[in-house]
Amino acid sequence: MGKLVKTLRARGLSMMAVAACIIILAAVVPLFLQTAIMLQSFNQAQLDARSIEIQNQCMILSNQMTRTGYLSSEQKNNSLSSQMQAIADAYNGRIVIVGNNFKIVTDTFNLAVGKYYISEEVLRCFGGESSSTYNREMQYFANTTPVYDTVDGKTIQGVIVATASTENLISLTDRIEGSASLFLACMLAVVAIFAVLAAHLMLRPVKRLQQAFDRVARGDLDADIMVDTYGETKQLAQAVQKSLNKLRAVDQSRQEFVSNVSHELKTPITSIRVLADSLMNMDDAPVELYREFMQDISDEIDRENQIIEDLLLLVKMDKSADSQMTVAQTNINEELELVLKRLRPIAKKGNVELTFESFREVTADVDRMKLSLAVTNLVENAIKYNVDSGWVRVTLDADHKYFYIKVADSGIGIPEDSLDHIFERFFRVDKARSREVGGTGLGLAITQNVIQMHHGVIDVESTLGEGTTFSVRIPLNYVPRQEAKS
Ligand code: ADP
Repeated sequence: MGKLVKTLRARGLSMMAVAACIIILAAVVPLFLQTAIMLQSFNQAQLDARSIEIQNQCMILSNQMTRTGYLSSEQKNNSLSSQMQAIADAYNGRIVIVGNNFKIVTDTFNLAVGKYYISEEVLRCFGGESSSTYNREMQYFANTTPVYDTVDGKTIQGVIVATASTENLISLTDRIEGSASLFLACMLAVVAIFAVLAAHLMLRPVKRLQQAFDRVARGDLDADIMVDTYGETKQLAQAVQKSLNKLRAVDQSRQEFVSNVSHELKTPITSIRVLADSLMNMDDAPVELYREFMQDISDEIDRENQIIEDLLLLVKMDKSADSQMTVAQTNINEELELVLKRLRPIAKKGNVELTFESFREVTADVDRMKLSLAVTNLVENAIKYNVDSGWVRVTLDADHKYFYIKVADSGIGIPEDSLDHIFERFFRVDKARSREVGGTGLGLAITQNVIQMHHGVIDVESTLGEGTTFSVRIPLNYVPRQEAKS
């Protein structure tokens, strides 16, 4: 059946045609087989019945001959002779009586009386073994029955050789076969109509699914794919609906991202335009004012540059993560020391105490540049969003599987309702403050990407007005996703 379905599919047949073919085969093949077996059994039963009938008639004749001494009397019993003739006519056959000298005594065809009849069956019958054989080609039965001696009832005095045609039986079977064929043809037509109808009904939900898929393929992401007629189509529809919802979310976040990017890129340009316009509208502006305005313009250009750089970095990291990684065994302690050394002047400027505490020496497979960028963002934020005379504490620890970095600060903290959005692109709790400290709103998004590329996780805990702690957990050994899957 599997092979048949494969062949039908390979020939490009529709699901409906395949289903209809299967239903027709499932219904008609057993019917054909059953009819063939029934016809065969009927035929055999007819032949068996005819054989028994002839044997019985011959037995009756034999008994009557023994009783009346048919073979030993000169004058043959007329009533028995006409009885034999009637039997032979009834079966469209011939009855021959062979005496013990192998000479034919009686022949219903009256053609061979007095002639010798020596055949294997007759010889065996004289030996006491009666026979009944069927000649399929010539369509007749041949039966030999012994005739016993009238006195002792044991000695075989002669043999009845009876032949009977089965032509009338065969023609009856032929007639029944004809009716059966007509019945099967009608059944085939009925089953075919039912099969097409059933296949059509069964595959209606699949057709509806296909129409819904077509709508999605045409770009209509709002199309609902709910076909809940059968369990299978319901599950399929649910799975596709899930993917579609994801696609919608991605599409929406893409649109949001594009509008955020345009907005973010427009802000410095608007500032530059305002600064330049006001300079141009001033007739006798002093050189100091020019300088001040030009400095502001330069700062805005730096900002625009920073946003573009961060965006490019994010886009680059969004591509297949594994291929973007340059992993090497790295001393994490040294790496963190380096990050802190670079940031110390900024911390000093903000009057923030920066400390590093390591519980053990940690070596791990990481992309040095990326990890350093992620930690820099965290520590830089901890300094930027701190209070005067505040502190930032970086700690490093590890177990047999992971290493842990914590960046805790005594800063302004993050409101609870913002914690869920903190890693979103361009999300800022206080836009003005972020702008003031040169933020782009992309730092934490970049950091999260880097941690995820290392197959790690990042968490945040914060209390408004008290401080924030970012916790990072990264596996010591880097296994590319492809390898991990296989
Ligand atoms: P930004 O460039 O604005 O700093 P980030 O993505 O790095 O962007 O951070 C997003 C926002 O999260 C920041 O604007 C700030 O409001 C908040 N934030 C990040 N780190 C801290 C921190 N350590 N303390 C308080 N607020 C923070």
